[in-house]
Amino acid sequence: MSYLKKVISGTCPNCGKTKLFTDNGNPFLFKMPKMKPKCDNCDYSFHRETGFYVGAMYMSYALTVAEMVSVIVLGLIFKLTFIQIFISICIVAFLLSAFNYKMSRIMWLNVFYKEE
Ligand SMILES: [Zn+2]
Repeated sequence: MSYLKKVISGTCPNCGKTKLFTDNGNPFLFKMPKMKPKCDNCDYSFHRETGFYVGAMYMSYALTVAEMVSVIVLGLIFKLTFIQIFISICIVAFLLSAFNYKMSRIMWLNVFYKEE
């Protein structure tokens, strides 16, 4: 299975059968997605080592910057004012926070997965 396919499906990098997260979270309730400790099917540990997911912040940063640049470009296309673009960025960053958290962890785990 390719990297992109594994990231989009959000499944175990080892067997591809179990989802990594039990729920999607909800930014309106300040609830972040919950990650399983290990795969139900193959026992592959999703918690590689202490502090492993600190590096996922870089993935989250890249996702957030890409989303902000997209909002700025859309704002310029639709001729919004600076303050309208700024408020749009804040709203998009808030709405996609749980999605970014989930995707960054999935991407980070798949970056360091080695097939045995
Ligand atoms: Zn598995």
